[in-house]
Amino acid sequence: MQEYFKKIYKDTQNNFYNLIKENIINENKMFIVTANPETFMTAQNNIDFKNALLDDKTTIIADGIGIVKGSKMLKYNIKETIPGVDLSAKLFEYCNELKKNIFLFGAKEDVLTKLVKVINTNYPDAIICGYENGYVENKDDVFNKMAELNPDVILVALGIPAQELFIYNNLDKFKKGIFVGVGGSFDVLSGVKKRAPKIFRNLHLEWFYRLLKEPKRCKRFFSNNVKYIFKLKACKNRRKN
Ligand code: UDP
Repeated sequence: MQEYFKKIYKDTQNNFYNLIKENIINENKMFIVTANPETFMTAQNNIDFKNALLDDKTTIIADGIGIVKGSKMLKYNIKETIPGVDLSAKLFEYCNELKKNIFLFGAKEDVLTKLVKVINTNYPDAIICGYENGYVENKDDVFNKMAELNPDVILVALGIPAQELFIYNNLDKFKKGIFVGVGGSFDVLSGVKKRAPKIFRNLHLEWFYRLLKEPKRCKRFFSNNVKYIFKLKACKNRRKN
């Protein structure tokens, strides 16, 4: 697991946002994975996903507090979280300011149409060059159409690891673009699901709020997080010896 912590982005949220803005302006290509413990645990059993995470082309950021705490345990010291929802909102803001193109791929059709309205209202100079719901059969084909549109920002909400694998496997079709797998962010940014209130966020308990609202996530969450804690402890002990 140390290999993830070695390569993960460790600086502040603000510095990361500045880096992204520079990359949009310079038309660089960037693939961002917003990681939580589940991301690393999924990669344990999925070699393609693991390879995608560890590829030099991939930038990993700490979506949740579990990754920041884990980094402190292993002395990698990530400064703070960069939640995928905040990153998505920042990208809308930059597209608005710089009049750049966004492609949205994923979530249910009604969520997506609501999100398009939110962006058009709140970020009127951002250009939505295309969008597609996440339940179409041929997802690679969506990337082919997307590549023809040459977007500056591509947000993909298909859940992990599908969103990352689709981005990674289609990346060579694009000359530029900031690609991010954003999980459930469309549901929140469209207003369909409520984000955790500020008090939960300030106490780093956003994950707890999500479990309260969606108890069916509990089994997956606890199984991955317990495995993660054991892995961290094993890594810590190995580092000591
Ligand atoms: N999703 C999708 N197509 C699928 C499966 C999921 O578009 O085949 C969407 C789903 O509607 C949701 C998003 O993927 O908007 C992320 O789902 P989830 O909250 O489970 O992801 P997580 O953030 O836990 O990875």
